[in-house]
Amino acid sequence: MGVQKPKVKGKKKHKNYPSSQKWKFYKIEGEKLLREKYCPRCGPGIFLTKSPDRNYCGKCHYTEFVKKQ
Ligand SMILES: [Zn+2]
Repeated sequence: MGVQKPKVKGKKKHKNYPSSQKWKFYKIEGEKLLREKYCPRCGPGIFLTKSPDRNYCGKCHYTEFVKKQ
C-alpha cells in the first residue's frame, strides 16, 4: 500500500484577527477625519475608549468621566 497521508486534525491555526483596533478610534464624517480624545497620561497616540459616560485608557487605566449636560 502507499504512504498514508497524515490527517490534519485537532487544533486549528488561529486566524489573523485584528490585534490593532486603532481604526476604532477614528471617525469619518464627510471629508473630515476626526480623532478621538487621547490619554493625557500616555499622550497623543493612545486614545481613550469611549463610553457613554466615561473615557477610558486601556494602557494606564486612566478614566475620565464625561459630565452630563
Ligand atoms: Zn493612558
